[in-house]
Amino acid sequence: MHDFEAVLQRVRSSGLRLTRQRRIILRAMCDLDGHASAEEVYQRVSRSRSDVDLSTVYRALVRLRDLRILSQIDLGRSCAEFEIVGERRHHHLVCVSCGTVMELDHSYLAALEEAVRHDFDFDPAFDHFALFGHCAECAKRGPGFRAGAG
Ligand SMILES: [Zn+2]
Ligand SMILES: [Zn+2]
Repeated sequence: MHDFEAVLQRVRSSGLRLTRQRRIILRAMCDLDGHASAEEVYQRVSRSRSDVDLSTVYRALVRLRDLRILSQIDLGRSCAEFEIVGERRHHHLVCVSCGTVMELDHSYLAALEEAVRHDFDFDPAFDHFALFGHCAECAKRGPGFRAGAG
């Protein structure tokens, strides 16, 4: 669970104006604790607020993503999902057959990050990454890779 006050502090130090709407949306992100789509955040926010619409939520999420307070990830669920960027970076292994999502510590990508930086003189934003494939269970059942899942 993310510390709401710490997240607000990061927004303040990023220079972004902490409007009431952004505060409410960040509160919802903290409460949802994990990945959430704009739709899910909107559902949560609209329980108590009727003046915030889906496009407002989406714009706020994108703005916060651009400041790297949130990260955006495609977990193959046909909509972008957002998550608060924490102290410890993590990524995901997504099984395209059963939808299982496993967590991958950033240390697995650290070497790749370093190589990209060195070889391409490019600073990659490896905040939150999804690798698609098959879990052990599904691999046992044979091939069935769904095209377009990545
Ligand atoms: Zn994640
Ligand atoms: Zn699977």
